[in-house]
Amino acid sequence: MTFTPHGKHLIAGDWIATDMKFSSEPAHGPAHEFSVGTVDLVNTACEAAEEAFWSYGYSTREARAEFLETIADEIEARAAAITEIGTQETGLPVARLEGERGRTTGQLRLFAGHILDGDYLDRRHDVALPERTPLPRPDIRLMQRPIGPVAVFGASNFPLAFSTAGGDTASALAAGCPVVVKGHSAHPGTGEIVAEAIHAAIKRCGVHPGVFSLVQGGKRDVGTGLVQHPLIKAVGFTGSLAGGRALFDLCVSRPEPIPFFGELGSVNPMFLLPEAVSARGAEIGKGWAGSLTMGAGQFCTNPGIAVVMASQADTIADAAREALSAVGAQVMLTDGIAAAYRQGRDRIAGAAGVREVLTSMCNQRDATPYLFVVKGADWLGNHALGEEVFGPLGLLVTVENAEEMLAVARSFEGQLTATLHLDAGDTDLARRLMPVLERKAGRVLANGFPTGVEVCDAMVHGGPYPASTNFGATSVGTMAIRRFLRPVSYQNLPEAILPEDL
Ligand code: NAP
Repeated sequence: MTFTPHGKHLIAGDWIATDMKFSSEPAHGPAHEFSVGTVDLVNTACEAAEEAFWSYGYSTREARAEFLETIADEIEARAAAITEIGTQETGLPVARLEGERGRTTGQLRLFAGHILDGDYLDRRHDVALPERTPLPRPDIRLMQRPIGPVAVFGASNFPLAFSTAGGDTASALAAGCPVVVKGHSAHPGTGEIVAEAIHAAIKRCGVHPGVFSLVQGGKRDVGTGLVQHPLIKAVGFTGSLAGGRALFDLCVSRPEPIPFFGELGSVNPMFLLPEAVSARGAEIGKGWAGSLTMGAGQFCTNPGIAVVMASQADTIADAAREALSAVGAQVMLTDGIAAAYRQGRDRIAGAAGVREVLTSMCNQRDATPYLFVVKGADWLGNHALGEEVFGPLGLLVTVENAEEMLAVARSFEGQLTATLHLDAGDTDLARRLMPVLERKAGRVLANGFPTGVEVCDAMVHGGPYPASTNFGATSVGTMAIRRFLRPVSYQNLPEAILPEDL
């Protein structure tokens, strides 16, 4: 099944072309032309989303669950075509696209079940105490309500699970919020076919067409216009620190500021404690290399930095170098991301005290792994070494003792994850690290690798800035729905006018 994109925007149920075009830049296969987005289209989409909110925002949980399930069905019905265009545009392998499709439909179905369950409504009731003295207490109920139209910026590195019908869209639609997606220019055709699936589900379920629009990019004013549109009430974003920060600043400087749920950079430090390294250092080094190179290192949870005692550093460096040397060149998502990877390599390689363990040449859109070592003292003197390099680059930080390991831990900025590799004999040091890691990261894990984020109730995929712009939130797992809800208290309201869910 071959899918040829028509290159249009989906605006409230209509496929619309614009005069200006941009071309996709696939890793392989044919390039296609796409209509460039405009501020006028953003306005039309936002107005339709607001209009849709008056029905969709007050629809039953059963109706929304059915809609989410139908989107998942429609995506599955286009499985082969989605994989074909997705692999062409991103260079990601077939197995990855297939797995990611399962994750995407799984997420939609998970949110369907989650809203049917109803716990997310957080219903509370303080019954009236009319006889209370000195003052009677009124009857007060609380429930979470959807906030209104939400803007979603798809991620380049997850063309399905974090994009058009990804976690942000699924959680917003589950909450009852219409969505306007700003398509990622790295995979416009994948965005189009997924939008087609959502469009089909809208028709099958009889949902207001303004509930979903896709405005393709091609120009920066699509994104800036979207986050500044007065009808947009929140933004979900995954991408670079620079881009996310620019859009976040626009959100807070609006006449009506809105929350910006940005998932930005992270280096996901791992702390390799002495007993664990003595027992299985080579295995840990090899595992690190595997996690570092998965998907050409283009994961937000990529463990870019490992901290180890200097006396044990060779064990890790040797094992990681051997495993990384066996990994060939991998195609990256875009030329721009590949160029940024090489700039990041140059920045690390040129820093004071940094020593190369593994380096190699790679072509324009390819990435090969790099491994560097730096002493803790040099690390502590150079803040820039803690900035994300998006791709398969590892930096081993060697420390002299537990105090220096703690100092390095304290020096990190906010992270999505922090990992401990430990054995029973490492418990005391791990206990000292825990309060630091908890303050730094949204997820702390032991004896594993942070790539591979489970979609479940207990997951937190977020963290203090710059891991995310909003540390109270997660973009993966059922708690992601909270970003698009707001609590309302109902005091002394007659039952007849209370929301049905109360
Ligand atoms: P990006 O450049 O931040 O772009 C993400 C989205 O935001 C795109 O739709 C982009 O539009 C838009 N955008 C960015 N800056 C904007 C601005 N100033 N005004 C308006 N819109 C703006 O991220 P990317 O292209 O996906 O990847 C580039 C880098 O992001 C990578 O090298 C990596 O460092 C980082 N990244 C991190 C993660 C993570 O999970 N933490 C994931 C992916 C990427 P255009 O398409 O029009 O540019």
